[in-house]
Amino acid sequence: MAMDFGSAAIYAAILLNVLWAIWIGALQVSRIRQSRHAEKAIDSVGSGYWVLDASGRFVDVNAAYCRMVGYTRKQILAMHIADFEAVATREGIRKQIERILQKGQERFETRHKRSNGEWVDLEVTVTAVGKHQVIVYLRDISERKKAAIEINQLALYDPLTALPNRRLLQDRLQQALRNATRSKHHGALLFIDLDHFKTLNDTQGHAKGDDLLRQVAQRLVSCVREGDTVARFGGDEFVMVLVRLSPDATEAAAEVRSIGEKILIQLGQGFRLGDLDHTTTASMGISLFSNQAVSIEDVLRQADLAMYKSKAAGRNGLRFFDPGMQVAIEARMALETDLRNALLSQQLVLHYQPQADRHRRIVGAEALVRWQHPRLGLVMPTQFIPLAEESGIILQLGQWVLEAACLQLVQWATQARTSALVLAVNVSVRQLQQPDFVEQVLDVLRRTGANPGKLKLELTESILVSNVEDVIAKMSALKAVGVSFSLDDFGTGYSSLAYLSRLPIDQLKIDRTFVANIVASANAVSICVAVISLARSLNLNVVAEGVETEEQFQLLACVHQCDYVQGYLIGHPLPADGLQAMLD
Ligand code: C2E
Ligand code: MG
Ligand code: MG
Repeated sequence: MAMDFGSAAIYAAILLNVLWAIWIGALQVSRIRQSRHAEKAIDSVGSGYWVLDASGRFVDVNAAYCRMVGYTRKQILAMHIADFEAVATREGIRKQIERILQKGQERFETRHKRSNGEWVDLEVTVTAVGKHQVIVYLRDISERKKAAIEINQLALYDPLTALPNRRLLQDRLQQALRNATRSKHHGALLFIDLDHFKTLNDTQGHAKGDDLLRQVAQRLVSCVREGDTVARFGGDEFVMVLVRLSPDATEAAAEVRSIGEKILIQLGQGFRLGDLDHTTTASMGISLFSNQAVSIEDVLRQADLAMYKSKAAGRNGLRFFDPGMQVAIEARMALETDLRNALLSQQLVLHYQPQADRHRRIVGAEALVRWQHPRLGLVMPTQFIPLAEESGIILQLGQWVLEAACLQLVQWATQARTSALVLAVNVSVRQLQQPDFVEQVLDVLRRTGANPGKLKLELTESILVSNVEDVIAKMSALKAVGVSFSLDDFGTGYSSLAYLSRLPIDQLKIDRTFVANIVASANAVSICVAVISLARSLNLNVVAEGVETEEQFQLLACVHQCDYVQGYLIGHPLPADGLQAMLD
């Protein structure tokens, strides 16, 4: 709307300009000296008209100008034009008129002070008439100026929060970088991102989200000094530029830290969004700059990286950028690119770790993915699964694993020694959250022809943080075709027993940290025993992972009747033919 109004005002201004030029042309041609007719005509378009003598005294003035400045004709005729100007002196005006009398015409913009103290913006055309007088046409351009300011506002400020936008931020940052170089003072860029803003927007609606952004903007502005900039960078991201910090780097860092902490505390105070009480936190990345030559892009990227680190460290905190961060992030980015390639160029392989019953008979295996990296050699999943989860690659990776595992099952089904083996496949919570997860699994089963009864999916307790009903529905759908479920790393998460009893799982998998300590620590024994008895009462079976020694095996399988074991004692994860050889 504001833009339309602005454009309309500009068109009107252009039209008036044209009219104006016509008037001036016409008047000049006929040289009508103080013509009442001309004055009336000019009056009718609302423009001012003066006749001045060579010293700048009024000889005549029209009614339109009187209205413009709020004085009577009589009052004006007794004044000097310097009285209306902000800075011009009588002498300066005299010289200007002298110049115009020689040159013929001059056009410029100025402002005149009204009787009520306000200012009116004017476009002035002064034309020499003979040797001793000038005619001055004055056009009120306040509206045009206002429109120009509004357009400027739109181009440089964020309409929602009225904070400088990204474009103006760049100018201010450029300025701050230049000043830091010149003054030896440090400056800092703070990158602030609200935590979980999307959830508010999605659950409470955009009006509430907008309201929060506006209030956050106000709080941020209240935290900084004059000369600093608070800008909206986009979405729920804000950027602050702090200037004139200490010339000493350590002191400057301490100053920014204290401002940053103040901001986080301010943002942590509750917000009132209409009828909703809302609390939020923010994550902040900080980049200090001084007199070394850095670009706007560098500073922004550094603060952004630091912000990302602060999010990864659990949100609601601040981080300073340091060069080590850059190296780590670059390595991570390179690994991410490599991992995408790995999927395309078949560099992933599955290894199979045997699972045995209490009599050490191999009854199945767990599929564990490895990355045959062309340079780094065999990379273990702990080094790339977290990255795959963060970057979303896990979805394709998981799909690949599932398919490879099912193909293995099909192959095992062809031989008597392997046809009874159950294969466990790790499924990430992100995979399970896919709306079409069930269809994906069913589709792979159908395409490969694998027996669903031999497929076991390993989930971790983290599935319980998402929509439990949805998880239960998906598991039930797959159970209906014969797929079974195991709860991996059990005891390390935050399972609520109430939820646990509702999940359609078949097996609990005791985490290997408990198994590792079982011989030395009474606590570890108690935990293993508790998990085993919990499983019994819920009618589930139990597998202990990470069984490395005979003592652990004896204690778990023989003394405490754990159903199955998995670990180096039985066998390391091996390529498929290695497992096959174990069975021969
Ligand atoms: P996990 O599912 O708990 O797998 C068991 C891990 O324990 C495996 O590590 C295995 O090599 C290791 N392990 C087995 N026996 C022993 C033992 O006796 N002692 C010790 N110290 N460790 C033992 P790995 O293969 O490095 O896998 C690590 C984790 O990576 C897995 O933990 C799983 O969370 C994840 N992962 C592996 N493959 C996949 C996959 O295909 N998809 C997903 N989403 N995650 C996977
Ligand atoms: Mg597992
Ligand atoms: Mg495990």
